[in-house]
Amino acid sequence: MATIFTKIIQGAIPSYKVAEDDRFYAFLDINPLRAGHTLVVPKFAEGEELDYIFDLDDETLSAMMVFAKRVAARIREVTGCARVATVVLGLEVPHVHIHLVPIDSEADVDFRAPREKLSPDEFASLAAKLAM
Ligand code: AMP
Repeated sequence: MATIFTKIIQGAIPSYKVAEDDRFYAFLDINPLRAGHTLVVPKFAEGEELDYIFDLDDETLSAMMVFAKRVAARIREVTGCARVATVVLGLEVPHVHIHLVPIDSEADVDFRAPREKLSPDEFASLAAKLAM
């Protein structure tokens, strides 16, 4: 069965897309720690999704980080944050993903903190600004 992220990549579930190429997809996290919190995911064949980032082959892992680097640069440019934190948890969705979180301090990357609430219009306008 396809993961929720594969369904997002296929367009079966809507998302606020930020970037895409033939191998990777980036979209806004629906429950952001801060506005601009983005997820980067690899495209897998349906039903063959890997769950754990370090199960990726070396070349795919490297290419994913290079893709994430481009997205992170864009997040920093648009949000004006000091840095973009790169976090891998993967405890909720069993499909490899990297969190890119715009931060100005360590407190901005506390996954136990309350999430920011954005309206659909705010998500859409942010995604349009970040779009590459
Ligand atoms: P984790 O697997 O612990 O790294 O967390 C998964 C992340 O995916 C969480 O931050 C969720 O808010 C996010 N998420 C889950 N479903 C969606 C969705 N449909 N669209 C965007 N983000 C999602």
